[in-house]
Amino acid sequence: ILGVNRSTTIKSYDLLKDMGLIESKVGKGTYVIYEKNIANNENIFNEIYWDNYLGNYSFKNSINIMSKIMSEVSKENLISLSGGFPSKEVYPYDKLKQINIEILENNEIFFQTPVRGDRAFVLTLIKYLYSNKHIKLNHKELMVTSGSQQALNLLIQTFVNPGDNIIIENPSFFGAIHLFRKAKANLISTNISGEGIDLNHIEFQLKNNNIKFMYLLPNFQNPTGYNMSIEDRKKILYLSKKYKVPIIEEDPYGELYFDKYTPSIKSLDTENFVVHIGTFSKTLSPGFRIGYIAADKTVIKKLTLLNQFIDIHANTISQNIINKFLSKDFYNEHLEIVRSHYKLKRDAMVNELNKGQLTFQIPKGGYYIWCQLDKRISVDLLLKESLKNGVDFIPGEFFFNNSYEGRNFIRLNFTSSTKKEIIKGVRIINDIIKNMR
Ligand code: PMP
Repeated sequence: ILGVNRSTTIKSYDLLKDMGLIESKVGKGTYVIYEKNIANNENIFNEIYWDNYLGNYSFKNSINIMSKIMSEVSKENLISLSGGFPSKEVYPYDKLKQINIEILENNEIFFQTPVRGDRAFVLTLIKYLYSNKHIKLNHKELMVTSGSQQALNLLIQTFVNPGDNIIIENPSFFGAIHLFRKAKANLISTNISGEGIDLNHIEFQLKNNNIKFMYLLPNFQNPTGYNMSIEDRKKILYLSKKYKVPIIEEDPYGELYFDKYTPSIKSLDTENFVVHIGTFSKTLSPGFRIGYIAADKTVIKKLTLLNQFIDIHANTISQNIINKFLSKDFYNEHLEIVRSHYKLKRDAMVNELNKGQLTFQIPKGGYYIWCQLDKRISVDLLLKESLKNGVDFIPGEFFFNNSYEGRNFIRLNFTSSTKKEIIKGVRIINDIIKNMR
């Protein structure tokens, strides 16, 4: 070990220990068991090895929540009230199959598109955003992305530095919380409740701290189902301009209203200061992986510069399918169908929840009911028992920046399971809670 200093040697020992490659025997000393592993054909490049190898910006201690939801939702015999996926019962299979046949006539669908998106699709999206969401744009102010998760990722990678202060609703979507954490942003949580968002807290923060962005989900928020009032949207927009802090408005659920549409913050914004993220994942299908960002042209330009090195452009076939689906006006027809379908399912869930002991507000659209439990009931235990009985849901703690805050909440999805499954699932949860008390 000539030439190696003491601290390097100690670090090497620690690493070997973490990798499980050191064996200590009392009275005999410490042995490196590398040879033994090779002889036994064991893989030394195991999980511990790669864990120690991770870069600083990796998800070192991150939970596997998204992957778990994506795979569990299709498990047989499991009623999944966890994932946020569309219903398979009212899916426009025939129309989409027909469109698939039609687009196969166009050889261009097998090739690349510009980084900012397929030209024809961008124009269709501009028309759609004007007619459906009252957002007025020119083609330089729009970019197609691989879903809204990708859109948020591009924004964060482009604009957020470690230590930047971000105002975020409390609770909020865990996919966003984790991306901001990965960027080492400092999340400033602003409480939302049935009465609305804490605007005093927001103004206090804007006045006293250097805030980079406000990240908001004003429409039927994930996870609470809360819908921000039009007055609060106007006030937040006013504050955003007063303190020159842009809003990132994410809107996967706004078109899935059961009573009336609330205008997005972006549609109220006359100076193009709001960055609006949308997606077809909740209204049509997450499998297409198509979303978009509507923002000032300089923002779009910078995002395009980054995306040429991230995923280059969104899937050409998906862009062409959605383009046709929108152009033929199948999309609005489909929205009408899913709105009434989801309303019936929401009613079924509310009706069943009313027979139990969970407290909740009735969402006026979207995908989720956010339920509060008696503090004495352990959500972990409830989930364990529910899974044993074939029902899955998401514990509330995942949606808080400080997970201890969410210990007595659960999120239930009412769109992807059938009405019968929803009723059965909630009944099982109600019964478990009754027995726990
Ligand atoms: N953002 C929010 C707020 C969501 O609820 C979801 C889905 N759970 C996503 C993003 C992911 O959407 P996409 O499939 O468009 O990436």
